[in-house]
Amino acid sequence: MSWRTDPDGMVTITARLPPHHAAAITAVVDQQVMANRAPAGASLRQQRADALTATTTNGNGNGSVVAEIVIHVRGGDPTLLADGTPLSDHAVTSLLDDGFVSLLLCDTNRHTIDASPRRRTPTRRQRRVIDELHPECARTGCHARTFLQYDHEQPYTNGGTTTLDNLRRLCGPHNRARGRGDCQ
Ligand SMILES: [Zn+2]
Repeated sequence: MSWRTDPDGMVTITARLPPHHAAAITAVVDQQVMANRAPAGASLRQQRADALTATTTNGNGNGSVVAEIVIHVRGGDPTLLADGTPLSDHAVTSLLDDGFVSLLLCDTNRHTIDASPRRRTPTRRQRRVIDELHPECARTGCHARTFLQYDHEQPYTNGGTTTLDNLRRLCGPHNRARGRGDCQ
């Protein structure tokens, strides 16, 4: 980190940081920008500079800004910050120490699915993906494709989550048979 005084008296601060550290700082700054009431006509650069001052000096900031850093971990692909900056495995591991991990499911087109494992019925978007993934009744040998019902592979009442990997579709007869315990 370095700083120099410019001919006009202003000071330029330059910092070179690992991406996950930079992301933490920029996230706090932008959170503070949203919390501040920007002066009329202030550029985003100026608002960010004001926010940086506020959060680092407690001058007029509340000093308790909490920002969220979202990292995208996708099977087989590089781990990325939300803006596309790649992160090393080491950086991800260090973030996990005090991070709160929440799972966000994406479909095959990388559209997020608002999945809440705690709700019993799949969301509309989940149902759409399941319809694509499982066009037929999940019972082996049954190829019914109409009037399929959503089913938790591990029953919801038995701790099964409402997530894509635990959801499938069964035809009416097989769903009722499963309800009676006749088949898996
Ligand atoms: Zn069936």
